[in-house]
Amino acid sequence: MSSPDVGELEEHAVLAAMRSGWIAPLGPDVDAFETEIADRVGVSHGIALSSGTAALHLALLTLGATRGDVVVTSTMTFAATTNAIMYTGAEPHFVDCLPHTGNMDPELLRRALVRLQEQGRRVAAVVPVDLLGKAVDYTQILSIAQEFNVPVLSDAAESLGAKHRGKPVGSFGAASVFSFNGNKIMTTSGGGMLMTDDEEFANHVRYLATQARQPVIHYEHLDVGYNYRMSNLLAALGRAQLERLDEMIAKRRKLRDEYKNLFASMPGIRVFGSEHDDEDNVWLTAISINESVTGFGPKDLALALARNNIESRPIWKPMHLQPVFSQYEGEISGVAEQLFKTHLTLPSGSALSQRQREFVYDKISEFIGAQK
Ligand SMILES: *Cc1c(COP(=O)(O)O)cnc(C)c1O
Repeated sequence: MSSPDVGELEEHAVLAAMRSGWIAPLGPDVDAFETEIADRVGVSHGIALSSGTAALHLALLTLGATRGDVVVTSTMTFAATTNAIMYTGAEPHFVDCLPHTGNMDPELLRRALVRLQEQGRRVAAVVPVDLLGKAVDYTQILSIAQEFNVPVLSDAAESLGAKHRGKPVGSFGAASVFSFNGNKIMTTSGGGMLMTDDEEFANHVRYLATQARQPVIHYEHLDVGYNYRMSNLLAALGRAQLERLDEMIAKRRKLRDEYKNLFASMPGIRVFGSEHDDEDNVWLTAISINESVTGFGPKDLALALARNNIESRPIWKPMHLQPVFSQYEGEISGVAEQLFKTHLTLPSGSALSQRQREFVYDKISEFIGAQK
């Protein structure tokens, strides 16, 4: 659905890093990678880490999230966002989403913050998520969070390269998190980065990520630390990927345009979020299927594609419906659940060849033709 897109450039970069002798979770490629991503999104600090989840975890700790606190987050997300909240001991409070983007509904966020304030709860952070590469409405979310004096941590794991009103994601709020997992828009095979303009914040994240070691010659520790830094070899891979990021986004955009053409003549099927997609990074293309029009649902199409060895998947199952998190409260309107039931994510990777793409389109057309 979104396989890594790596070639000779990446091979050379990793080999060069290995030959340089910097085979450690530090080195010149880590430093350069941090600077290059920070420059790209226009913030002063990037800290390369072992995963996006690790970046979320350290950002929440740095914001002081702890037992007894609440962290308000999107219900429509991958479990990593909520898992990171759980690691800190804080409780998640889920907010439902807007139908056209799947992103946090600002009015429901306000309701959540009012309710939590009335209950006298301390809210450590609001963590909105840029779903499938579409930026959250940061203008509204930041202004509401500010009214309640709560910092915003942006989970931009899926959206590197996207913008909100011309400003790159990764530059909104107190801090932002990117993921370079193997299926993301660009990859370090596994990795993440914490972005912030706040130097103290950056220093604290770096400190926690390297076992919270005090700056003395012997090993002295005042806090519990983590081993969360990114390997220099992987940072070299990331730098090569970053050189190709715009090209990879363009390929995914072309793929989505082809899907739009394909589905234009199919009543009841629509490419997800297509009225709002000029600034996204086109990470994954999803479609909505109106079963009362088509006579089949997402599961039927997914099964037909699977028979041809084509991977597709429902959109994320909302967090408030996950057995592990179902005891936590939230502002739930039902939109996320509806998206989960009616949407399917299609093969979206920039490494797909024209032949592979045409195979996918043919199999989709074949299945839909056979329904009539
Ligand atoms: C992928 C992802 C993460 C986690 O990133 P990892 O690098 O896999 O740990 C967090 N949040 C969202 C929304 C994601 O899609």
